[in-house]
Amino acid sequence: QAKAAGRNTIRFFDPKMQILVSQRVALEEDLRDAMLSDQFELYYQAQLTDDGKLFGAEVLIRWNHPSRGMISPAEFIPLAEETGLITILGYWVLHTATNQIATWKEQDEFKDLVIAVNVSPSQFHQKNFVEQVTDILDLTQANPLRLKLELTEGFSIANIEDVIKKMSRLKEVGVGFSLDDFGTGYSSLSYLKRLPLDQLKIDQSFVRDILVDPNDAAISKMVIVLAESLGLAVIAEGVETPEQQVFLAEQGCHAYQGYLYSKPLPLAQFEQFARDVYHGRA
Ligand code: C2E
Ligand code: MG
Ligand code: MG
Ligand code: MG
Repeated sequence: QAKAAGRNTIRFFDPKMQILVSQRVALEEDLRDAMLSDQFELYYQAQLTDDGKLFGAEVLIRWNHPSRGMISPAEFIPLAEETGLITILGYWVLHTATNQIATWKEQDEFKDLVIAVNVSPSQFHQKNFVEQVTDILDLTQANPLRLKLELTEGFSIANIEDVIKKMSRLKEVGVGFSLDDFGTGYSSLSYLKRLPLDQLKIDQSFVRDILVDPNDAAISKMVIVLAESLGLAVIAEGVETPEQQVFLAEQGCHAYQGYLYSKPLPLAQFEQFARDVYHGRA
């Protein structure tokens, strides 16, 4: 029976497994189509300091699927990574975000914002990644100081020399780097010390229970102290309550991102949010 199904068909005896595999294949095909038909959109999530100043935003991709509605990047980014589509998608994100930085450069409410863009490991590991970024900066005429790239600890330590080289070349141009989801991966402290980073990002999994779980509080505190001693900035993601914010501030963290301030917003809504903050209406 398996043979009759043809050479290119894989049959699993567990029907649930079969369903999962076909759903994945369908999603992969949809992902290819989506690239050609404008189904992606960038949302912007505000980043603020203690005193309520908006200093930046993180760019988060959204996929508006024609029949399934909004699909979370947590679902399709890993798929895009596995299929190699991430290089095209990642380029589009970088170009769109950098172009936005350029569009904002004459407007007081936006011109100083630092825009953080997530970069996947396989995107960063492309041979010409540095040239891609510098070409986009040239093309758009955006200020490189307003662009920050978020890397995760998933970056292979085996390639550390290459990672350092690429980061250094981009830093020379003025691009900044943040280490996302810090504490959830495996990076050693000696590795961390060598990366030319600007910022550590405390993962939301530690922030969530920071008030009730002493371990999470201890880890957050450690990240803050570590950032300080390495001369790096620190930001907490996933801040949802004023109590979490106060606690983080007491520990020495003074930059935040989370639902307490704003959810990730479509461009026009984010711009409204930024104007309101700038003019003291928020
Ligand atoms: P991330 O970079 O760690 O982004 C933070 C995630 O936390 C976002 O989820 C954001 O919507 C969510 N978040 C922010 N504040 C809160 C909060 O107060 N509470 C809770 N519960 N969640 C909060 P999102 O947008 O679903 O993105 C998930 C992940 O997908 C991102 O995690 C990032 O790793 C990846 N991603 C998103 N956009 C891109 C992209 O353009 N390129 C790449 N390579 N990865 C992306
Ligand atoms: Mg991020
Ligand atoms: Mg994160
Ligand atoms: Mg995270």
